[in-house]
Amino acid sequence: MDIALVGIGKIAVDQHVPSLATSPDWELAATVSRSGTVEGVEAFTSFTGMLEARPEIRVVSLCLPPVPRFDYAAKALAAGRHVMLEKPPGATLAECIALEQMARDKGLSIYATWHSREADKVAPAKAWLADKTLKSLHVTWREDVRRWHPGQDWIFEAGGLGVFDPGINALSIVTEILPDPIHLQSATLSFPENRQAPIAADLAFYHPGNARVTCDFDFRQEGQQTWSIEARCEEGTLLLTNGGANMYIDGEELGEHHSGLDGEYPRLYAKMAELVRAGGIDMDLRPLRHVADAFLLGRRSVVEPFEF
Ligand code: NAP
Repeated sequence: MDIALVGIGKIAVDQHVPSLATSPDWELAATVSRSGTVEGVEAFTSFTGMLEARPEIRVVSLCLPPVPRFDYAAKALAAGRHVMLEKPPGATLAECIALEQMARDKGLSIYATWHSREADKVAPAKAWLADKTLKSLHVTWREDVRRWHPGQDWIFEAGGLGVFDPGINALSIVTEILPDPIHLQSATLSFPENRQAPIAADLAFYHPGNARVTCDFDFRQEGQQTWSIEARCEEGTLLLTNGGANMYIDGEELGEHHSGLDGEYPRLYAKMAELVRAGGIDMDLRPLRHVADAFLLGRRSVVEPFEF
């Protein structure tokens, strides 16, 4: 199937283009970007121009930052195209709900992707936790924003999510692997005095079994980077590391050890192909709901200014 990629920036170049190049389902037929292009692929600078010029492209994948994404998604659906959304699926919950309704009304597929859910050990972790009694779960998601998002000022603008840009990946895993629903009970968000979005956040959740569920997100982590989730259960301790790529039970590693995040984006594109073939919709908004709740309920702490 032909697909158009919109927003040829960091993640498009790092993951989307290589995943599409090796996909048995997809042919990258056009790009839309004000500056980015992909060699050998027709490049448009106007989204409307692409939709009009290439009516045979039925599917559009949006790799823009969250704030501009809604307008593009709404235009694509209005033009009868299926839509795949980078995470987070939008800048607000209401716009994501509106997009889902538009897709339903038009009989089109829409997919709110969560790439971290496709990490290698997320499914085995979910299976392991399914019959365990949780005592506590702690997320440590600490990375260096200068290393992973160099110069991306949008991330610290309103709607850019700040540290929740990576933190929402952890929440996408937690909401996938925990058998019970959780909801936010308290949060502290640290805002650099010159920015509109937090650089660090501490969250605590209600869990129906009274387990202690907490998150520590920080964008100021130099040196060793940590993306781990530890779930202590009556029956033993599960540890996911490297963003869900590796898994340990009581210190013993299970399955193959991975050093990278290979496979996440190819699996997203395989799922999108299934959705389009089946006429399905996948818009699980739970990770974004928890982030929205953190902005609703979080205490604000002002910290030193941040510059890239
Ligand atoms: P990026 O490189 O800063 O931006 C992606 C592209 O979006 C840019 O090339 C730009 O293309 C376009 N764009 C930016 N602002 C725009 C605007 N106001 N209107 C229209 N187009 C605009 O960002 P990214 O790192 O690829 O992230 C994009 C999305 O992917 C985010 O939601 C992020 O959470 C997600 N993501 C990122 C990573 C990562 O490692 N960076 C990993 C996983 C997921 P033009 O200027 O050429 O038009």
